[in-house]
Amino acid sequence: MSSGIAAIATPAEIAKYEPVIGLEVHVQLNTHTKIFCGCPVGFGAPPNTNVCPVCLGLPGALPVLNRKAVEMAIQAALALHCRVNPFSRFARKNYFYPDLPKGYQISQYDQPLAEHGHLEILVGGVAKRIGVTRVHMEDDAGKSIHDGFKDSDRYTYVDLNRSGTPLIEIVSEPDMRGPDEVYEYLSELKQVMQYVGVSECDMEKGQLRCDANVSVRLKGVEEFGTKAEVKNLNSFRFAKMAVDYEISRQVAVLESGGKIEQETRSYNVATGETVGMRSKEDAHDYRYFPEPDLAPLRIGEEWLVRLRDAMPELPADKRRRFIESYGLREYDVQVLTAARGVSDYFEKAAAVAGDARTAANWVIGDLLGALQGADVSASPVAAGELGELVRLIAKGEISGKMAKEIFAKMFASGESAQSIIEREGLRQISDTDSLAKIVDEVIAKSAKQVEQYKSGKTGVLGYLVGQVMKATQGQANPAVVNDLLKAKLS
Ligand code: ADP
Ligand code: ZN
Ligand code: MG
Repeated sequence: MSSGIAAIATPAEIAKYEPVIGLEVHVQLNTHTKIFCGCPVGFGAPPNTNVCPVCLGLPGALPVLNRKAVEMAIQAALALHCRVNPFSRFARKNYFYPDLPKGYQISQYDQPLAEHGHLEILVGGVAKRIGVTRVHMEDDAGKSIHDGFKDSDRYTYVDLNRSGTPLIEIVSEPDMRGPDEVYEYLSELKQVMQYVGVSECDMEKGQLRCDANVSVRLKGVEEFGTKAEVKNLNSFRFAKMAVDYEISRQVAVLESGGKIEQETRSYNVATGETVGMRSKEDAHDYRYFPEPDLAPLRIGEEWLVRLRDAMPELPADKRRRFIESYGLREYDVQVLTAARGVSDYFEKAAAVAGDARTAANWVIGDLLGALQGADVSASPVAAGELGELVRLIAKGEISGKMAKEIFAKMFASGESAQSIIEREGLRQISDTDSLAKIVDEVIAKSAKQVEQYKSGKTGVLGYLVGQVMKATQGQANPAVVNDLLKAKLS
């Protein structure tokens, strides 16, 4: 249990220590059915309706491994650059809990699905590799729902719809050195899982859950300190805040001569503190043994190659390619690749536009702005249509300013740029003959400004261009008008 020592260390005290953090992340796989039975996986169904003898843990019911779950787990492992073991095994992890009807979880222990991977994160603009120790498969437990506040009026309900939902656990090496790295690791991990399509990682639905192992050591000391595990962090922000608090707490304990207990703690969102829950159980407490009802999992080379070939481009590779082949800026690339759908949209638009940088600006500024956080798949303007709009600007058929208006109309109605331009006669006037006539008229009407220009006040050119734009209701190509005016006045 936690000592009563003041939780917060001073910045000077904290500066003497280096934090060491390793994360255990559970990711729910995106299968239609559960890992060992055919019950649907869903969220929000009436309690205890998506259940059968297997996921209820009834005596004699036998598990059957879901092939799709294995394939997703393998692809997740490959995306984390893990070595997938040709032979792995399920194991029973025994513990008692009301929402665990079997009395054990089917997990993997000494022979996990995959090992020796890594995930690259950016730390202050510099790439850093965080080791991934292992990726293993397991089933989820049900849910206990606590209701009522007074002892006399307190019930706990058990909903077993979630029991048997396929999970992977991703265990990192203790390679993170601060709360920011934790945040980066989780963000990158979520992005990779979403790209590969193995999970939506919706944290509000519990599809990604994180436990943080935290220790501190005096700077310069090689040996790790004793760690505490902070359980069930259900947002990246909370994970970062909990780790931050935990570092400070541990430093305060050590600085006042105490020692860190190896324990499991939980983060209290309301107070921003971590509190001790129980001393950490050891592996032997779980009485792990090989699962007798499931055959070992053998993964042949051919299957592995097929799954590897079906993998999409990973976010890190995509970011590199966008910078190299489109010449985009780092920040723009971050925005464009945050979601796979947006990056696909951009590439389609850029191909039609013939100008990737302008297309990128339109996607980032105008499209994402108009979408107001909605998914790009809901965009009323298709990628090719936005690309066409950008192509018309590049060709000089419409001005950038006209394009903004046209885009707003496209977004509101779903109409194409071409049809809006035709209907509203919005074409930009670039042809010199018709513009020359208007330029002559403006010059004739602006004797004073023409004189000023000729006496060296070249700034009045802007006024003259403005007059031509006005006369053409904004449809003249300003660059052409500029050139014409200069030529005629020199
Ligand atoms: P346990 O046996 O307690 O489960 P493991 O060695 O399996 O511990 O590690 C569990 C997690 O804790 C891993 O993510 C690992 O990186 C992390 N970890 C291990 N030792 C430390 C430490 N001293 N400080 C911080 N994290 C650690
Ligand atoms: Zn079932
Ligand atoms: Mg362990």
